Amino acid sequence: EAPLSPRAEPGDGDVDATLRPRRLAEFVGQSRVREQLELVLEGARRRGAPPDHVLLSGPPGLGKTSLAMIIGAELGSAVRVTSGPALERAGDLAAMLSNLVEGDVLFIDEIHRIARPAEEMLYLAMEDFRVDVVVGKGPGATSIPLDIAPFTLVGATTRSGALTGPLRDRFGFTAHMEFYSPEELERVLRRSAVILGVDLRPDGAEEVARRSRGTPRIANRLLRRVRDYAEVRADGAVTREVARAALEVYDVDELGLDRLDRAVLGALVRSFGGGPVGVSTLAVAVGEEPTTVEEVCEPYLVRAGMLARTPRGRVATVAAWRHLGLEPPQHAPG
Ligand code: ATP
Repeated sequence: EAPLSPRAEPGDGDVDATLRPRRLAEFVGQSRVREQLELVLEGARRRGAPPDHVLLSGPPGLGKTSLAMIIGAELGSAVRVTSGPALERAGDLAAMLSNLVEGDVLFIDEIHRIARPAEEMLYLAMEDFRVDVVVGKGPGATSIPLDIAPFTLVGATTRSGALTGPLRDRFGFTAHMEFYSPEELERVLRRSAVILGVDLRPDGAEEVARRSRGTPRIANRLLRRVRDYAEVRADGAVTREVARAALEVYDVDELGLDRLDRAVLGALVRSFGGGPVGVSTLAVAVGEEPTTVEEVCEPYLVRAGMLARTPRGRVATVAAWRHLGLEPPQHAPG
């Protein structure tokens, strides 16, 4: 349905799992994050202690879950997986924490969505490897401190700004994930093509990479759509020509913008004269959730030089006007 959504979609499950890099050495791109993480892990290994808690921050689909699993694999530790929205009650978190074995990795996806009581429990757990379990209710309630095994928390978030200060401060290391360059995405695609047995030609890889919104999950999904096209309407080889024809069917444009990206730019330019306009107004205009516009569309539009964030709101750049085939006004930023 949404070939360009960077978020995990129902159909992705199995393929995501097959294509997921297992070790740091297999993880393409993000060289800065990789180097930083290597040092964190090696330092901990030499000291024989669990590494500092790690926060992975960045837009969806850039490999945060993969990195969390890799951290476990590199440490030789088990990874327990949960998510912010699943930890509504502090008791759920207490149960997870007290079941940890020394050295385990606890992965909390979407950690910015954790409920307040669970978050407060996490502070103590991260800092002192302790939880306070409240027993009973009302005036007779008592809190029993409980030691938990030293563990490493790996949190993932698309909005590190939405994390409270105290939580953010308890992470020893924050990895800022960046969009991938077209060259890096080509490497992701070549690796995936080998695993999936797709006859991906160099010019085909280049074309798909360029249109993948800087996001490995999208690159892998487009590869599957392009493979279908190659097998059904061509001889199975994914060449540039086949990739172009296939991606046209899926409304993926030259720059990799999808329908929603173009709708956002279109509304910004046509309904609001290029801005500035607030993100929630823009979201209403395209009939989307403000968080989707803010966390999914915007980061890439900014990165692609189409949209600028100003204190007064979002503004379309000269490139955005031109991309829509319109003449930019004098005041449009470059
Ligand atoms: P979300 O936040 O939506 O869960 P994510 O950032 O956790 O996304 P992953 O689920 O780790 O992203 O990655 C999505 C898919 O992209 C993986 O299955 C994997 O195939 C691929 N992928 C991500 N990063 C890389 C990489 N560096 N090298 C190779 N493949 C990658």
